[in-house]
Amino acid sequence: MNFSYWEKEYLISPSDYLIVGMGLVGLQTAINLKEKYPKAIVTVIDRHGWGLGASTRNAGFGCFANISEILDDLKNDTIKNVYETISKRYHGLIKLRKKFGDDNIDYQSKGSIEIFTHKNKNELHEAIDSLQGINTILSQELDLKRVFTYKNNNSLPNVIGTIHNDYEGQLNTGKLYHTIYKYAQNLGINLLGGLEVLNWESNAEITIFTRQQINLRTKNLILCTNAFTPNLVDEDISPCRGQIIVSEKMEQLPIEGLYHYDNGYYYWRDIDDRILLGGARNYDSIGETTNKIETSDVIISELKRFMEKQITGKPVAIECQWSGIMGMGKSKQKIPIIKKIEPHVYVAARLGGMGVALSASVAEDIQKLLD
Ligand SMILES: Cc1cc2nc3c(=O)[nH]c(=O)nc-3n(C[C@H](O)[C@H](O)[C@H](O)COP(=O)(O)OP(=O)(O)OC[C@H]3O[C@@H](n4cnc5c(N)ncnc54)[C@H](O)[C@@H]3O)c2cc1C
Repeated sequence: MNFSYWEKEYLISPSDYLIVGMGLVGLQTAINLKEKYPKAIVTVIDRHGWGLGASTRNAGFGCFANISEILDDLKNDTIKNVYETISKRYHGLIKLRKKFGDDNIDYQSKGSIEIFTHKNKNELHEAIDSLQGINTILSQELDLKRVFTYKNNNSLPNVIGTIHNDYEGQLNTGKLYHTIYKYAQNLGINLLGGLEVLNWESNAEITIFTRQQINLRTKNLILCTNAFTPNLVDEDISPCRGQIIVSEKMEQLPIEGLYHYDNGYYYWRDIDDRILLGGARNYDSIGETTNKIETSDVIISELKRFMEKQITGKPVAIECQWSGIMGMGKSKQKIPIIKKIEPHVYVAARLGGMGVALSASVAEDIQKLLD
């Protein structure tokens, strides 16, 4: 194809920084670089029209930790990595709110509740035993008083105890993405959808080859491709699908705020007079280790069953359902990968299942690495 003078000059001209992936990490990395170097040409590309992996498909939990997930993570990683990841999430949440504004992203500090039923009463006992120790570490790490509190009263069916985290909140995923996208556009960052990177070649500068046969040149390449990173480089990342259902509007919602259950495998919240419920990935862990953005009957049926049994206590119509793809550690490590892989080529990926808040910290860390 012959490109027009205008395309060559304004759309595909060489960049100083070319970011692959228009998710929360890619967009915020671009914003940080453009704010630091206003004269630099910063371009973000994505294989889809917009960031279509996890960033527009998540549940909008502004979360950083729940107690049974911490205990589980401590079995798979070092104490240092577990608490460093929590700290990155917590500080990321503060950055996100400060930079983009609570009103713009519809942030509401309703707190979160982890529920325990008879099925996981052993986990409840373990959580109660560890509560004080974890709170002490978190008060040193995050400067927060008593992050977790135990309560034994709850109106939800089958619940034998709850652990509350009043420092978490919920946001509107659509508004968050839209706000960040517009912010990037207003700074003069080039946002180009429909370009899938296949590979690149490094000489005096880097040439990126795309499936669409449009080659782009850049001085620095940053892969913010999360779950899809293994298609480009060999890193400890495995794609894991997450699925969500949203109920019809209800006159009286049975819950308000954020809820977690079963080591965070099930999570639900209120949104616009509806209940949003996601997870159940552990119900078919092999089937859900995939990067296919489609829903599966097995998981959707399990979510519907859980919604009626555990949340509403009665049948409820489902208005919509979808899936998204998370980037998890094959090794079960959750700390994000932020590194230089070759001269002028960087990776910022593996955001896991609590990557919304974390994204602001990862974008800041990768920008610092580029300095
Ligand atoms: C169902 C679900 C619910 C979730 N709920 C929450 C939640 O409530 N709270 C929370 O904190 N986190 C949640 N998460 C996790 C969170 O959404 C992610 O961790 C976060 O959005 C990751 O952002 P990202 O920018 O790293 O990746 P992504 O948003 O996945 O962006 C990566 C982008 O890279 C693009 N890309 C990949 N390969 C290429 C290529 N070769 N060429 C061009 N483009 C490419 C993709 O198209 C994609 O747009 C959830 C995730 C899912 C799936």
